[in-house]
Amino acid sequence: MSQEKQANYDDNNIFAKMLKGEIPYHKVYEDDKTLAFMDIMPQAKGHVLIIPKQQAVDLADLEPEFATAVLMTAKKVMAAQRQVFEREGIIQMQLNGSEAGQTVFHYHLHLIPSSIHELGRHAVTQADQTELANMAKQLTAAIAT
Ligand code: 5GP
Repeated sequence: MSQEKQANYDDNNIFAKMLKGEIPYHKVYEDDKTLAFMDIMPQAKGHVLIIPKQQAVDLADLEPEFATAVLMTAKKVMAAQRQVFEREGIIQMQLNGSEAGQTVFHYHLHLIPSSIHELGRHAVTQADQTELANMAKQLTAAIAT
């Protein structure tokens, strides 16, 4: 990440470690400013997270060029989710601060194929790794077409 370190940013958070290649994840999409991957404790099948390659704790820190890049990636991922999971409803969610329920302090956008009335619990149940890998492959292929 080329940006200056934020004073309140912990460089050892789990998403920072992913960006440094220190821990594995199921990649859906990557470009020079963003990374999209499967959420390991999904609130519905096909739950994807999009992060900027900027040291932002939450929305307050997010620079305009990275905000734009995150949304451009979100549009790609959402189109792929609609195609792969054959459902129209995609929830876009983003939590700011622990009071809101934020648990990882590197800005991230959630894209969840679900209805707000069916949404599962937040960050509770681990998904099957093989299923996550398969979904990531399908989404990556859909984005590429
Ligand atoms: P937050 O609570 O900060 O809005 O969301 C953090 C999200 O990160 C949760 O949905 C949680 O399931 C997900 N998460 C936490 N640890 C990991 C991890 O190690 N790998 C992946 N892929 N997702 C994670």
